[in-house]
Amino acid sequence: MRLLPAFVASVHGLLVTQHTGHRRLPQRFGARMITSTSLAVADVENTVGPGRPPYALSGLPRPKLRGAVMGYLHKSKSWYLLACAYLTAAFLMLPRPVQALDIFLRLGLVGASSASVAISDGYHNPDRRSDGQVEGREELFWLRLDYISISAMLSTNLLLWAANLGWVGLLPFSAAATTASTAAVVAASLVLVPRRTGHVFVKLTMAFQFVCLLGYLVICAITSPTPACSSVYFCYLPGFILYATKWPKHKTFGYHEIFHSSVLLGHMASMGFDLWFLR
Ligand SMILES: [Zn+2]
Repeated sequence: MRLLPAFVASVHGLLVTQHTGHRRLPQRFGARMITSTSLAVADVENTVGPGRPPYALSGLPRPKLRGAVMGYLHKSKSWYLLACAYLTAAFLMLPRPVQALDIFLRLGLVGASSASVAISDGYHNPDRRSDGQVEGREELFWLRLDYISISAMLSTNLLLWAANLGWVGLLPFSAAATTASTAAVVAASLVLVPRRTGHVFVKLTMAFQFVCLLGYLVICAITSPTPACSSVYFCYLPGFILYATKWPKHKTFGYHEIFHSSVLLGHMASMGFDLWFLR
């Protein structure tokens, strides 16, 4: 008789796995809750990371270390302290009289990076906050913000470094284009996501921001008197390549974890090279 509950749990787990295992997003997700109980069998079948529920919207696995560093940086407030230290140092090093635009650009950079840390924790770690339940509606809220914060991160980097490079060449147009791109990502995230067209539109727009607009900025940086600052772009580069290719997949530490590491490295490089630029 002890086998009966196990059999029922197996069938239930299998159904949940099949139901959530597709990549197309369900239209009605609000009421669907995925619990750690229903995942016991799915775990065995290697469809989810060890001990963690999959994403509610896509059913994709949630690797063991997904969001771990972002969660630590958010809860310990370490990232926000680092951002404050950078802002203070930049303020002290900016030429006098300090221009409002110079402060605004740096506030934008730390605002976007801090938001990306907080939002990544919100999106990836709902199972660490509550009783192990992951609700689609809450996940969609964080996913929309996640898209917006990534796009904002690309824009704020371009704006700061376009200013540092003296707005040479077509950088004013690149700045306008990246700002418009982020506005488009905000609109698409709120209106189109979670439909497939929304995901595709957002990702193509971010690819345009990274490859074309930031790529042009890198060319300007390399040909400037301070070519070293182009390193910022190359810190972000591996993460965005793996984000686009979704490789390698791993139950503990895969492409998205490398993306997060690369993004954090890029943020720190951007802040560090900015202080070096202001020295
Ligand atoms: Zn993430």
